[in-house]
Amino acid sequence: MANIEKYLRKTALPHIWCPGCGNGIVLASLLRAVEKLDLDQKKTIIVSGIGCSSRASGYMNFNTIHTAHGRALTFATGIKFANPELNVIVITGDGDSTAIGGNHFIHSARRNIDITTIVFNNSIYGMTGGQSSPLTPQSSKSSTAPFGQIERSFDIPALAVAAGATYVARGTAFHATMLTDLITKAIQNKGFSVVDAITQCPIGFGRKNKMGTAEKMMQWQRDNAVTVQAAAKLAPENMEGKFVIGELHNSPAPEYTAEYEKLIVRLQQQKGGQA
Ligand code: SF4
Ligand code: MG
Repeated sequence: MANIEKYLRKTALPHIWCPGCGNGIVLASLLRAVEKLDLDQKKTIIVSGIGCSSRASGYMNFNTIHTAHGRALTFATGIKFANPELNVIVITGDGDSTAIGGNHFIHSARRNIDITTIVFNNSIYGMTGGQSSPLTPQSSKSSTAPFGQIERSFDIPALAVAAGATYVARGTAFHATMLTDLITKAIQNKGFSVVDAITQCPIGFGRKNKMGTAEKMMQWQRDNAVTVQAAAKLAPENMEGKFVIGELHNSPAPEYTAEYEKLIVRLQQQKGGQA
């Protein structure tokens, strides 16, 4: 059993999350991945944006930075660029990463900068009042869509792959052990990695959509998630209303800060040749 307590900032606890919130499960999965990889706490930087999930950075005993709404990836990019030796992990919500921070998300993926992004995807803006996010499913209710959401939602993994991310996976709070494995591989990837972690918000989303208790919401995750292996054997009509979990994309490519270093060396050599 992983010893993850050492990674918690006890002085910052108790946490502010509602009873039954899935954020703690996702956080524990991340900490188990850190433990598995034996990452140096001093060389691991946790960067978060704004929202319920982004509060996690404050509970973690690493070098942490809680930034502005949607801007976690910009701070993370600066940190990684200044010191490529660091392990940089971003904690963000679905609204934070794909609405306010949407441009930063796609361009981080396009650059393939070595940052691991864990999207705590609860289908809603939890902290700011239950408004629709770009991940609120069509026809579900939110405080800004009281008669049902008419917009379509993003598919985070598809967006990340299309933009150039080199490791992309999806897990859920229910499948916590699998989530740890996926986050472990995401951290190991030398490039931009995204893990879409589907988690329950029984207060901001579940209550409005009559999804029942947190336990019921986790049963929903269990019943609607299909592993990549199982999905490959199913006809498209059998995937209606379901979603795929597991490793969805793993395609290494040159990493941004390494390419930048190479550019410096090349220019220095050219300059040396001219002298
Ligand atoms: Fe969790 Fe939702 Fe409560 Fe935020 S509002 S702490 S996401 S249950
Ligand atoms: Mg959210």
